[in-house]
Amino acid sequence: MLAELREDNSLDRWIDQVRSLRGCTAPIHLAGERCRVDASTGEILSTYSTEENEPRGALLVRCKNRRVSVCASCSEEYRADAYQLIKAGITGGSKGVPSSVGVHPRVFVTLTAPSFGPVHRGPGKDGTTQPCHPRRSGLSCTKYHRSDDPLIGQPLDPESYDYVQHVLWQAHSGELWRRFIIHLRHHLASAAGLTRTEFAQRVRVSYAKVAEFQARGVVHFHAVIRLDGARGPSSWPLPPVWASLDMLIAAVHSAVRATSLEVTVGDECHRLAWGEQYDVRPIGEFGPEHGALSDTAVAGYIAKYATKAAEEAGGLDRRLTDITHLDPEQVRPHVARLIETCWRLGNRHVYPELEYLNLRKWAHMLGFRGHFLTKSRSYSTTLGALRQARADYSAGYPWDPETWTPTRQDDQDDESTLVLSDWRYLGQGFTPGELALVCVITGRSPTTKEAHDKEAHDEVFP
Ligand SMILES: [Zn+2]
Ligand SMILES: [Zn+2]
Repeated sequence: MLAELREDNSLDRWIDQVRSLRGCTAPIHLAGERCRVDASTGEILSTYSTEENEPRGALLVRCKNRRVSVCASCSEEYRADAYQLIKAGITGGSKGVPSSVGVHPRVFVTLTAPSFGPVHRGPGKDGTTQPCHPRRSGLSCTKYHRSDDPLIGQPLDPESYDYVQHVLWQAHSGELWRRFIIHLRHHLASAAGLTRTEFAQRVRVSYAKVAEFQARGVVHFHAVIRLDGARGPSSWPLPPVWASLDMLIAAVHSAVRATSLEVTVGDECHRLAWGEQYDVRPIGEFGPEHGALSDTAVAGYIAKYATKAAEEAGGLDRRLTDITHLDPEQVRPHVARLIETCWRLGNRHVYPELEYLNLRKWAHMLGFRGHFLTKSRSYSTTLGALRQARADYSAGYPWDPETWTPTRQDDQDDESTLVLSDWRYLGQGFTPGELALVCVITGRSPTTKEAHDKEAHDEVFP
């Protein structure tokens, strides 16, 4: 590759591209053209094409991947953005959210999945070791699992574990959340003695939530829920005095219990609901005796969860196109069973009633179909706005790695200049040889995996 770049004098430009990636190790390769035109006269002001201007006809842009297993640099940027987004909605005073939201009732809620069968348990939340002993089961495991024990989260008895219910729950978890929020609004309205319409005219419920994969391969949701006045987070009007923190906490409890959903598969009806283990805590300075959490602690938790993905629970980091491609060496047996269950239920000829879930498409996510970070419209700023604000794409374009589409549609410099552009996806990432060179250019040391890949590569292509 080096020889090729040297030959056409494009090595310098390639090095520039690598520098502009700011540490991204899985860049997207784009081909395309961009043309700036004077809108009034039609005169072409400048043209740019990767074919003419870039080494090997490709522009490299940051991958923007949320997953730390794909790209540490972009994942860190995503985490920082998620932190800003959540923090702005809790404390205000930035990103267009007034600091008055600091006095709105706010809670940190964790909603979990029910049990689908006993699984091996690791140390407690505070890190103390505990015997595995799952409650309420005839099966038992008396081991003390260390936090890195791969057994944690795996079923004690895979044969009796309810894989179908697990996958159905996961695939509907977004719908359960939607129903939970509807119940929450209704319960708040009735606690206030108002009709739903009257309530909506006075109080708005805003939230931001993240999904976190647990070791057993199912998501939990962590959310900030905030009560605003009728116009959202704006400083006027404030939420009415009767819309109190206590009222919010009580309504979360009753809404969690009220939420459920029924799915019929064949002649079997599956009832899906939240797990009994859930948590509601006030956010703010009430002191630890109230179980309150500080705003920075909450923003930190959520940002940390936002970059975890299915592969941390043993899932795959890319879509599966065929179940026969599933390498049993690559995943743990529990994860393989979950993926196979998705594949089986995703057969639209056998289960036409589940076609809307598109389970084969989401098999690598163990059936989870939602976004990892979502928020109601008025919670705070958006990730897109944060990215745009950073405006670090001198030549490249914001690129949505989930959908492979440019995120900015209105490519306009200013009123008088029209920008026409057309981009195509060519590929992604560096070869092991290129990565070694990237490390030299950026002064970054290769990760163990990269060093290993390079060695394997050099053996094949000395
Ligand atoms: Zn990246
Ligand atoms: Zn165990």
